[in-house]
Amino acid sequence: MIFVIMGAPGAGKGTQCELLAEKIGALKISTGDVLRKHIQEGTGLGLQIRDLMESGRLVSDDILLAVVDQELERAGKRHVLLDGFPRTLKQAEALADHPVSGVYHIDVSEADLIERLVGRLVCAHCGSTYHSKNRPPKQAGICDRCGEGLSTRADDERAKVQVRLSVYEEQTKPVFEFYQDLGLYHRIDGSRAPSLVLSDLEQQISAKIAAG
Ligand code: AMP
Repeated sequence: MIFVIMGAPGAGKGTQCELLAEKIGALKISTGDVLRKHIQEGTGLGLQIRDLMESGRLVSDDILLAVVDQELERAGKRHVLLDGFPRTLKQAEALADHPVSGVYHIDVSEADLIERLVGRLVCAHCGSTYHSKNRPPKQAGICDRCGEGLSTRADDERAKVQVRLSVYEEQTKPVFEFYQDLGLYHRIDGSRAPSLVLSDLEQQISAKIAAG
């Protein structure tokens, strides 16, 4: 089954998907992570999308559709959590070729999103995320999990965060209506403690899986 986890930048999709995937034995597919890996490895695609991605804008639908098709093929028969896709109506329509079983929108206020994003620290090596105030690493600048150095994402600068939030308003919010019409949309209150958001998601998604 395919589950879509949606939310504005900073809503906690990545962290929640990571933990949830482990709990329910699903595969997490994060389009942002796949694209960042291309940039890190300097592939042709990475070079093509780097400036655009770092500016906070969306990469083209055609590129994303090819990336997701490939990732879904690799997933085989496993349950999948899609993190960061679809982000436009065109992507949602194209995904209709693969049946989606539920869409979960982690809803967080704009003030909280900005606070979370500008303090975010990431480990480019293992993908763990921290927050300078709310979830600092044990040793400043070092990943607790793998010991590599932490950095700030280029698109987490305040000006770029504003661009990403407007892109989300204009291009991603219409996707909610698309899934509401299909009866697949669920709002998850993302202002709660991360552990409560996780157990809510786990409960709802496990119930869907159990119901087949
Ligand atoms: P994320 O890590 O999900 O915040 O994604 C980081 C960046 O990757 C976005 O700001 C976009 O530039 C690009 N990206 C990730 N997923 C998509 C998508 N579904 N459609 C277009 N661009 C995407």
